[in-house]
Amino acid sequence: MKTIIEPFRIKVVEPIRMTTREERAHLLEKAGYNVFLLHSDDVLIDLLTDSGTAAMSAAQWGAIMRGDESYAGSPSYYRFRDTVREIFGFKQIIPTHQGRAAERILFSTVCEPGDVVPNNTHFDTTRANIEATGARAVDLPIAEGLIPSHVHPFKGNMDVEALSELIAEVGPERVPLVMITVTNNTGGGQPVSMANIRAVSEVCRTHGIDFYVDACRFAENAYLIKLREHGYADAPLPDIVHEMFGYTDGCTMSAKKDGLANIGGFLATNDEELARDERDLLILTEGFPTYGGLAGRDLEAVAVGLREVLHEDYLEYRLASVRYLGEHISGFGVPIVQPPGGHAIYIDAAAFFPHLDPLELPGQSLVAELYLEGGVRSVEIGTVMFGTHDWETGKETASSMELVRLALPRRVYTQSHVDYLVEVIHEVWDRREAIGGFRFTYQAPTLRHFTARFEPSYRFAARVRGSPPCGELPDRVISTPPTEIIT
Ligand SMILES: *Cc1c(COP(=O)(O)O)cnc(C)c1O
Repeated sequence: MKTIIEPFRIKVVEPIRMTTREERAHLLEKAGYNVFLLHSDDVLIDLLTDSGTAAMSAAQWGAIMRGDESYAGSPSYYRFRDTVREIFGFKQIIPTHQGRAAERILFSTVCEPGDVVPNNTHFDTTRANIEATGARAVDLPIAEGLIPSHVHPFKGNMDVEALSELIAEVGPERVPLVMITVTNNTGGGQPVSMANIRAVSEVCRTHGIDFYVDACRFAENAYLIKLREHGYADAPLPDIVHEMFGYTDGCTMSAKKDGLANIGGFLATNDEELARDERDLLILTEGFPTYGGLAGRDLEAVAVGLREVLHEDYLEYRLASVRYLGEHISGFGVPIVQPPGGHAIYIDAAAFFPHLDPLELPGQSLVAELYLEGGVRSVEIGTVMFGTHDWETGKETASSMELVRLALPRRVYTQSHVDYLVEVIHEVWDRREAIGGFRFTYQAPTLRHFTARFEPSYRFAARVRGSPPCGELPDRVISTPPTEIIT
């Protein structure tokens, strides 16, 4: 078989700025070792997120020029609506500025305090929007999904038995809807099988509960069904997508992922009455129903992007680049969430640094080292993001997993960028035993990972600054934010 190449050529380029190790050491220290606080032009390869970071095509830029900015009834809306209808099969299409706006409108319309909303694994904004209504967000992943090294073709699946038990326990009247996230982002970008979607839908039908999809990465999930699920190898992608959504009652979507756009989203359903209530809320906070917080030009870019994302050459290249990265680094021993999923590789930082305690923030160490070594920006999904700090006792509690996510923006980096990335990871891997941990010097009461500041333990500090070892990590957390934290 020949090399799977990037199925595009490059018309416009964005230079990336090379930095030296010394510069990066200085920038990292200045940012309190929090890569969210770096300026992005100090980053060489930015794998912080695959959200809103796609490179748009010539056809999308062309469509942008056609964007009609009429307040009401813009033809751009109708092109957007018809595309979404055709691909997903829903009748009522409500544009929103991004995914979380669709979530807020949906959940504040259907949830009551005390309700329960199950999902394979809720994305953080989904959970937050459910909890904001007083309802409870429950994760029901299959057991295999929680073991990073375990290989399973559909680790994103929902535990159907646990779903039935939960419904029996709380009563179907307390469950306004069941949701399934494709691919399961929080659970490692792992796909959900068609069989699982069908099984969840049957449980929902039996109890008269609506079934929604968090559709952010619907195309990557559909292609993984084609590659991995029996009976779909020859099915055209649009048919797989139709079948997936045909089992459901609606979806929320962030077009910043598989919309191949830099902004946008939507909420879709067949329920006319529900859609009317949702549009009333939309008008209150997002905008008139034919633009929903977007410019006409954005609606055009999303309409074109939703079609392009279903090109099989694109998806073959997309999944091959993620797999290529995963196979190369696991080839020399780096522990990753197996098998490689749709949009990212997740390194198991606890297994990468077995000598570090979770409270020494091994994921944070790896994130800092990858930047220092090669200007690569990744994101910690472990104790920094999901651990807790007790403000009365000062006690820190670790998260159940210590992952570092390398999310690949769509159509942005080439194979030689990925080769460079593999080399950077290899360098860090080779000297992993000499790498130390971190501690918080500042954290905010909520969503602390965005603005936290850290201090390295002696091993890191010794290498960066040549300073002598200082021994034990004192447990100090400053609660006043340093000045100039985010600007
Ligand atoms: C990104 C994302 C969202 C939220 O979308 P935004 O466009 O960032 O508001 C919801 N669910 C999943 C699975 C996501 O990845």
